[in-house]
Amino acid sequence: MTYSKLTGLSLAAALVFSTGTALAQEHQPLADVHIHYSHDAWEIFPPKKAIAILNEAGLKYAFVSSSSDDGTQMLYAEAPDLIVPVLRPYRRRGELSTWMHDPTRLESLKSRLAKNTYAGIGEFHAYGDDIETDVLQGVIALADQYELFLHAHSDAEAIHLIFKHDPDARVLWAHSGFEDPEAVADMLRTYPRLWSDLAFRSDQAYDGEVSSDWRALFEEFPARIMIGTDTYTPERWPYVTTHAEWTREWLADLPKELAENIAWKNAERLLKAR
Ligand SMILES: [Zn+2]
Repeated sequence: MTYSKLTGLSLAAALVFSTGTALAQEHQPLADVHIHYSHDAWEIFPPKKAIAILNEAGLKYAFVSSSSDDGTQMLYAEAPDLIVPVLRPYRRRGELSTWMHDPTRLESLKSRLAKNTYAGIGEFHAYGDDIETDVLQGVIALADQYELFLHAHSDAEAIHLIFKHDPDARVLWAHSGFEDPEAVADMLRTYPRLWSDLAFRSDQAYDGEVSSDWRALFEEFPARIMIGTDTYTPERWPYVTTHAEWTREWLADLPKELAENIAWKNAERLLKAR
């Protein structure tokens, strides 16, 4: 067999395979919008190793926020095209229920914003009338001033209050508030500038099959949902690749365009919707 015949054959074989769903999904790029690189992960997964994991997972973007923000800066310096820096108000683990009463957190956000570039503020934890504290009001004002989205781990009441104070805010609802799809749909209907991530939940699909209630939500809001792993402890880091594989599996159960939206295009939409 001549070289050219062999090449022709391989090319034909490649074409046959590339039309198959399995291979196409394998190459489905993803934006993981819920990555943390916090202090206790730095030694176990030094920046180069962490970036290698994100690349192995086939990510196009990783939205990273860390306790402290130094973690995010280390990854951003290593891979500026991959990392989307999000500014977290915590210095270390254990501040998520107290930070809103600590004015030094707001000062630290201001000084970070003055020297670095970010796409958002978060992921922060705030429930109900936490939003009325001076610190949260300051955060909402900073997001407006710097045109940043807010990545909020919040209940529906806190989301209502954010939009009450700033109807033009852009909010990414972490974990979709751990609400059921009907409740999420209700919120997305009410607030056109609300997006939702599916981090740390698995109820949307079983065995690669998307459940009917989530499918209805995806179809009603094809441009508003995105995916994430949530590496809130160092042990979660190796799981980024497993999570990406699992995500590609259930995305393959959706129409191609919808799958691409949820996979990465909606993340880009959130960034561009200033
Ligand atoms: Zn998180």
